[in-house]
Amino acid sequence: MARARILILGGTGDGFRLAERLHAMAECDVITSMAGVTAAPKVPAGAVRRGGFGGVDGLVNYLQAERIEALVDATHPFAAQMSRNAALAAAQAQVPAVHISRSSWEALPGDDWHNVATMTEAAAKLPSNAGTTFLTTGKTQLHHFAQRNDVTFLARTVGPLGEDEDLGPLPEKLTFIHDKGPFEVASERKLLQDYGVAWIVSKNSGGPAAYAKLEAARELGLPVIMVQRPSPPNGHCVCDAIAALRWLAANVGLNIRGMETAR
Ligand code: NAP
Repeated sequence: MARARILILGGTGDGFRLAERLHAMAECDVITSMAGVTAAPKVPAGAVRRGGFGGVDGLVNYLQAERIEALVDATHPFAAQMSRNAALAAAQAQVPAVHISRSSWEALPGDDWHNVATMTEAAAKLPSNAGTTFLTTGKTQLHHFAQRNDVTFLARTVGPLGEDEDLGPLPEKLTFIHDKGPFEVASERKLLQDYGVAWIVSKNSGGPAAYAKLEAARELGLPVIMVQRPSPPNGHCVCDAIAALRWLAANVGLNIRGMETAR
């Protein structure tokens, strides 16, 4: 029997876990596509390719040239461009596709969240002289805060910026720290206290890896400006890697017996 060729658009733990399970199966070949924006990403099992496809047309060409039989979009909930491209390209190439979208975080009693729709709104929502504001938005979003010279910012990025990296205008008072999740509540609490953080800006990414800062904020009574997700792409959506496996079983005929429960 021919082996099924499955393309995962990676960038999340769900994509990583799905690649592990598919790679362990004799009946399929899995290729994970990484954007190539992180210097030392965690490398998933199976084949890996890096870098953009060149828009929708480039992805259509790739799907056809590589004879891909199913596409799993496991990119981050805020990677809206890639997800849109994936949905359009899959429809054009007539490749069955599914999007993994983990659940959003929900505010719990004790949380002081201020929901906004965009990063621009987040920057406007910060009160005047807000005090030290912890930005966990990703480095590409920092320019939205460039006009807020009344605020001192602390921004966490995965690694140091590249020498030629241009992030656009940046806030005047900005300190970088570098660290990679998953994060623990105790260390997040310590960080917030050590830097005297008064506000946090976060994307509503969902998932466990970046949630600790929100637990620490709840404990310390800190307000959080929470940027809501962009609209999900058209097409079928599942909530995690195991649900994506079930979808692959139904749509590509993979035998996933014994694979469904291991997390
Ligand atoms: P984006 O704005 O949606 O995508 C911009 C372009 O980057 C896409 O059009 C595509 O280029 C390329 N690209 C993105 N993901 C790719 C992938 N998995 N494989 C190949 N090319 C990819 O994405 P983003 O927000 O910059 O995120 C980039 C990557 O980081 C994504 O893979 C995402 O899962 C991961 N990530 C993002 C966030 C976030 O907050 N945005 C957080 C954690 C991880 P072409 O048009 O040339 O194909």
